[in-house]
Amino acid sequence: TQVLSERINRLAESATIAMAKKARELEAKGQAVIKLNFGEPDFQTPDHIKAAAKQAIDDGFTFYTPVSGYPQLRQAIADKLKRDNGLKWEAENIVVSTGAKQSLANVLMCLLNPGDEVVVFTPYWVTYREIIKVAEGKPVMVSGSLENNFKVTPEQLKAAITPKTKAILYSSPSNPTGSVYSKDELRALADVLKAHEDVFVIADEIYEYVIFQDEYVSMGAFEDMHDRVVTVNGFSKGFAMTGWRVGYLAAPTWLASACDKLQGQFTSGTCSIAQKAAYAAITGDLAPSHDMAKAYLRRRDLVLDLMKDIKGFKTYLPDGAFYIFPDVSYYYGKSDGENTINNSIDLCMYILNNAHVSLVPGEAFGADNCLRFSFAASDEDLKTAMQRIKTVLEKLN
Ligand code: PLP
Repeated sequence: TQVLSERINRLAESATIAMAKKARELEAKGQAVIKLNFGEPDFQTPDHIKAAAKQAIDDGFTFYTPVSGYPQLRQAIADKLKRDNGLKWEAENIVVSTGAKQSLANVLMCLLNPGDEVVVFTPYWVTYREIIKVAEGKPVMVSGSLENNFKVTPEQLKAAITPKTKAILYSSPSNPTGSVYSKDELRALADVLKAHEDVFVIADEIYEYVIFQDEYVSMGAFEDMHDRVVTVNGFSKGFAMTGWRVGYLAAPTWLASACDKLQGQFTSGTCSIAQKAAYAAITGDLAPSHDMAKAYLRRRDLVLDLMKDIKGFKTYLPDGAFYIFPDVSYYYGKSDGENTINNSIDLCMYILNNAHVSLVPGEAFGADNCLRFSFAASDEDLKTAMQRIKTVLEKLN
């Protein structure tokens, strides 16, 4: 008999992982699949970061680390947050974790009581909804419109807050849309929260360095918001370090201590060698990160250009990350005579099976009218993929 807990049964499998599985099945049958479903840089980790990890092994950094990370790394993160983000946290406010994913899980597990609501800016990163559910909270989705670059307005936020609201959660730049909240937009959202002093903000800034404009603003930089904003960030995206598993959060001492306590019972400190690599990343030359951002910008423009030739794709301009999330609902209700497309999953599967390009259905991000394309891929793959997609979509009537 299966006796799994309700907690785990409530949890959905990650749609991005499910899509990767289907793509692998096709590949096993000998099909060449172009994978635009991945949420990770296609670049190598910069050499100076790799060198620091090799050095860490040779220097014998092979023991358990403090739960919240090496003091030197936490200090470097606090310094970075002051330098780049105007956040006034000290090393004791930083908890280093096994990826930003664990940082988010730590915060939500430490903040939520059963039934507490979290306002999630939608389209949202898939994992948000699931962690909130595991923490027995209630996700409250608030959808930004494509016309507003998928960003949530102050009016929408105001309408979503109830006496049960414990936190709001968003990513900027956003996964899956690439939208970036400007200073004015963040200020207007913060103004709504003035009337709700008990509501926290969880700001996921993991794509901070993958940005196509000069200014990046953290909500915690506003004086009146500083102690209410938990900032989550990490090394996966900006430094091409997904496999190293290092992320962090910055929070008031009482909350950082609670996260330390939880993490101490779950996983302990993240990999000692990866922490040494992360230290080299955060204190080192940012030029490789900026070069990667430039490459993503070029590819964004390439993909947008190619999408102009595809009938029925509604686009907008992503300002960061490496995703574009066009509205493709023009195709819903259409058929190639064999398959009828009714939603984002149908269209995704149609494209995978016929064009051999893997994408992620918008439904996974709370927006069934859209598909997520990652442009963390070579120009050649992007061009071939878009041509194949155009061809198979022309068969739908
Ligand atoms: N937050 C967002 C919005 C992401 O897209 C991702 C990764 O896809 C993460 C957090 C997790 O990053 P990490 O690899 O540091 O766990």
